[in-house]
Amino acid sequence: MSALLQVASVAKAFGGNKVLQDVNLKIGAGEIVGLLGPNGSGKSTLLNTITGFEAADHGHIVYEGQRIEKLPPHRIVRTGIARTFQLPSMPKKMSVIEVAMAAATRAHGVGATLLGTPGAREAERQARNKATALLDQLLLMPVRDLAASALSGGQKKLLGIVCALMAEPRMLMLDEPTAGVHPNLRRDIVNALQKLNAGGMTLVIVEHDMHFIREVCTRCVVLDRGHIIASCRPDELAANERVLQAYLGGGAAH
Ligand code: ADP
Ligand code: MG
Repeated sequence: MSALLQVASVAKAFGGNKVLQDVNLKIGAGEIVGLLGPNGSGKSTLLNTITGFEAADHGHIVYEGQRIEKLPPHRIVRTGIARTFQLPSMPKKMSVIEVAMAAATRAHGVGATLLGTPGAREAERQARNKATALLDQLLLMPVRDLAASALSGGQKKLLGIVCALMAEPRMLMLDEPTAGVHPNLRRDIVNALQKLNAGGMTLVIVEHDMHFIREVCTRCVVLDRGHIIASCRPDELAANERVLQAYLGGGAAH
């Protein structure tokens, strides 16, 4: 498999807490990888390290042939990897559509230098059109003018996906996209993700819901105490002794 993303020997500790230890992972174009593991196993930290929110202590990360482990988050977004957060926080005074449009500004670096120029107005028009289309796709049009901070937890997750998509990524990493989301909305999230994948987007999804994983993911990668202990098809998970041990609380032998 030629890898779109390669994580090689990545380690990360917080003080004496070794959260990621010698993590090696290849993700090919078009995959939908489910990232699983008990709470505290390092899933969010792995996403944070790949997307530049935490610096790896060791190892390297290559995306489309380019080393990215030292790049800050906004540069990584521009190389083509966007992400959502486990607990999205929203600015107090901005509406839903303003938050989505601001994400485009960050992603494409259209900033203050263009303010008030025809170029800025055109960029704003494009961002508004794109935000509108994505809000529609993720069912947020009815709340587009509400304060983003007033949304429900599930709606904030959807807005997080919209913001990530504003960057037009080729790879999207989602941190627990369905946790706390109303069951009625889950189906819409699944549909939206499958559509994105059909359009060529590679997805990495931190997820606990086995039903979701079996339905959506083409492969599962399991973390336990900072180690990858399994990489297999979703239907092979139930038979994996190390995975069962990790989830039963005993932890797997490394
Ligand atoms: P998961 O997403 O699998 O539940 P996390 O990656 O959030 O796990 O956390 C793994 C471990 O790293 C936990 O022990 C957590 O307390 C610790 N951790 C995560 N981020 C930080 C941080 N910024 N500072 C200190 N410890 C952290
Ligand atoms: Mg997490």
